[in-house]
This record gives sequence, structure tokens and C-alpha cells, in this order.
Amino acid sequence: MSEIPVYQNYINGEFQAESASYIDVTNPADGALLSRVPNASVADVERAISAAKAAQQGWAATPAIERAQYLHQIADKLRQNVDRLASIITQEQGKILPLATVEVNFTADYLDYMAGWARRIEGDIITSDRPGENIFLFRKPLGVVAGILPWNFPFFLIARKMAPALVTGNTIVIKPSEETPNNCFEFTRLLDEIGLPNGVFNVVCGTGQQVGEALTSSSKVDMISFTGSVATGSAIMASAAPNVTKLNLELGGKAPAIVLEDADLDLAVAAIKASRVINTGQVCNCAERIYVHASVADTFISKLSEAMKATRFGNPMTDKDLEMGPLINQASLDKVVHMVETAKREGAEVVTGGKVADLGSGFHYEPTVLTGCHSGMEIMKKEIFGPVLPVQIVDSLEEAVELANASEYGLTSSVYTQNLSMAMRAINLLDYGETYINRENFEAMQGFHAGTRKSGIGGADGKYGLYEYTRTHVAYIQS
Ligand code: NAD
Repeated sequence: MSEIPVYQNYINGEFQAESASYIDVTNPADGALLSRVPNASVADVERAISAAKAAQQGWAATPAIERAQYLHQIADKLRQNVDRLASIITQEQGKILPLATVEVNFTADYLDYMAGWARRIEGDIITSDRPGENIFLFRKPLGVVAGILPWNFPFFLIARKMAPALVTGNTIVIKPSEETPNNCFEFTRLLDEIGLPNGVFNVVCGTGQQVGEALTSSSKVDMISFTGSVATGSAIMASAAPNVTKLNLELGGKAPAIVLEDADLDLAVAAIKASRVINTGQVCNCAERIYVHASVADTFISKLSEAMKATRFGNPMTDKDLEMGPLINQASLDKVVHMVETAKREGAEVVTGGKVADLGSGFHYEPTVLTGCHSGMEIMKKEIFGPVLPVQIVDSLEEAVELANASEYGLTSSVYTQNLSMAMRAINLLDYGETYINRENFEAMQGFHAGTRKSGIGGADGKYGLYEYTRTHVAYIQS
């Protein structure tokens, strides 16, 4: 039997010799022990922040195009190791191997994409009110970024935070989720091989209460870039408040999918199913609730139920040709069970699924469609984060939009119609960060991923995501 790996924190360009305490990481498909990872002490976190602080000025003084070369080199390393990395992600997170492979390749592409901004970081020169004066707006790095990651796309999220941070001249301390840290340590091993200057990239692993709190309350951290739940986002805001630390928060979602009377129903079913079974429904922008026009409701629900029922799921390391794996842990499975049972008590009807799938081991829930749902139900309001689609019947686009907007979340939304003016009307009315028309919910790296209301503050990706990692310094020059 091969030995269980024991990973160590990465501080100032070195893997540490040991940690005072460790956390066990297990496979959600079969419960097998995969690794032991550090639960870093507050002193470890402080050393990582100090290393990042000490490295930052030198890193910022390095030409952006040289900083970008490091990102390209990491991207190359990831591509050379794609199968091994995908398998590590699948083992600890439970997503199917093809999706983990997409995640690794997308991460490499993202590093290259953000590196491509190196020669395009621009300031402005503004006309002054005074004769002989010029006003210059410089874009400068913020300093030290703390990147706190969730478990659902753990590998990609490393790059989503470190690539824009590093190319703009910041240094970073990453805290992976304690559920899925192995891929982050493997990423770091590859990064270590390329000789990035010490302190530019650091990893401290551990619980949110200990390591997360130490990062977010530090006066030496200049920006907290967090992806995770609303509850943790709020806790981070409170922790960051005394130091007035800049926040970038990518939080939860409750994406509405609106199916209008003229929709291509086969396309709508395929796209909504794809948006729901991807990563077993554990994606912030997944279709989480459906509003379907009454005139097509019966046909749509029957097609959707057939499609969901046919979903192939199981253990992604042993079963072939799957569409989804298990949920991440027992707590997530319990939450899905609780939400479906509550919906049933509140009057929802199970058309397909509606129960735990007993595959011998793993946290599997059957792909589920619920009808008879209405806006008062918990399942139409709270994030499910599992393979469950509740459906509510509506009589118009306006009714659907009103229900869609009456949510504490405002991340993504989707609309299925063949009528361009209805699509434009929906975009005008939907109070959301993103709207997908006639396609599954999945953002592009050159777009801007951001939500309204409790879905977050600021955003990621593209030019605007890059500039989140900068501040503006204005100089008034009188000649
Ligand atoms: P989570 O909030 O439980 O944990 C996220 C991270 O925060 C983990 O690393 C955790 O250790 C850390 N953490 C926990 N408590 C902390 C504290 N007090 N201070 C600092 N850090 C703390 O989220 P999760 O369960 O890992 O991820 C699922 C959630 O993430 C869902 O709500 C999902 O919608 C959201 N999400 C959002 C996006 C987006 O782009 N908007 C993307 C992926 C996931």
C-alpha cells in the first residue's frame, strides 16, 4: 500500500519541515484517507504574510512582462501534468475526471490569459482645469493579497486569484479549503520548480476559524479575495473592518432559469440539465430554480425529468462515462435531503429522484425534479448546491423576472427564448451580474464574473477583474 502524503505549508519559497497539527483529507466517493495537511498556526500565517510583504516591493519593481513569464511557465507545467492533477482533484473533490481535466486546462489558459495583460495595464492622463498642469492616473498594486478558496473549483480558483494579483505586482498568501487542499499543494510543487522569487506566492492551509481569521484580521494584508458562502463572506467583512481592508467577495447564488413560451425546449432542457449536474450541482452559477411558461410547462417538465433521470452518476475514480459524482461531504448531503423534504412538506411534488442514492459508499443524491413549487418555499430561496431542480409555473416574462429578482442573491440568470426582443427585455429587467441567453451558465475568462446583492462585492475575470487588484494613484504635475 502506498504511503499517505503529508503536505506542508509553503512560506517564503520553502515547504516547511512540519506543522504543529494536521487535518485528514478524505475521498468523498469512498471515504478513503488521501492525505494529511497542516492546520497552520497563527504564527505560521503571520510568517507567510510577512514573507509576502517583504517580497512585494521587489516584485512590483520587476517589469510586468517578466512577472507574466512566470505565469506562462506555471501554465506550461500544469499542461505537462494535466492527467495527474485532474486525478488528484477528482479524488478529493468528487467531480468527474473529464471535468477535472477541463479545470486543469482552463486554469493553465487562465494563467496565460492574465499574463497577456502585462503590456496592457494602462493609466490615464486627464485634462486639468489649470494652465500648464497634467493629471496622471497610475495603476499600482495594492500590496499583499490573501486568497481564500472554496472546495468546488479549488484548482481554478488558485489561478483566478493569483494570476491577476501577481501580474499587477501584488504578492499573495493562498488558503485552500481544508476539504480540497491536495491540488493546491501539487500546484505549489510545480510552481516551486520554476524559481518564482521567494515570498511572492505562499500557501497556508487550515480551518477558516484559525487560518482564515488570522489572514482576514491582519493589518499587513491589503486585499482579501474570497470565494465561498455568504455566511463566511459576512464574517470576513467583520474581521476585515477594523483595518478597513479592501474586499473582493464572490459569494453564493440562486440562479433563476426562465423558459418562455417560444423557447427551444430541447435546448433549454439540455442547457439547464448541464448547468445543474455539472460538479453535482455544486457551482455558484448553476441553474438553481426554474420559471417555465404555463403554455409549455407540461412538455418541458416531462422532457426535463427524462433527462435528469437518465443522468449517469457514481464513483468518478472507478466508474466510467459518468455525468456526475458524489456531493462533497455528509453535511452537504444532509442539507440537500433536508431541503427536498421541506419542499415536499410545503407542497412540492417529486417528478423524479427525491432521495439519497445508495451506491454502497459516497454522498450520492439522485438527480431530482420538483414541481408545484412557489416563491414562499425554502427551496426557491436558499442555495441548494446539489442536483435538484425546483420548477415554478408562470404566465409571463414579467412575472418570472419579478420572482427572479426577489432573491437575496444576484449572481447569474438565464433565459430561453427565440425572440430577440424578449431576450433584450429580460436582460434590461433582470437585476443580476450575469445573464445567459439560450445556453448553459458558464462564464468566460475575458468576461466579468460578479453578482449583485448578497452574491458579492467586486468581481473576477477580464479587464475589470484584473483592475480589482490595483489601486489608482493620482499625480498633479504643474509645469
Ligand atoms: P465556505 O464559505 O464554507 O468556505 C470557503 C473558504 O472560507 C474555506 O477555505 C474556509 O476554510 C474559509 N473560511 C471559513 N470560515 C472562515 C472565516 N471565518 N474566516 C476566513 N475564512 C473562512 O464555502 P465552501 O463551502 O467552501 O464553498 C461553497 C460556497 O462558495 C457556495 O455558497 C458557493 O456558491 C460559493 N462559491 C461562489 C463562487 C463565486 O464565484 N461567486 C464560486 C465558487 C463557490
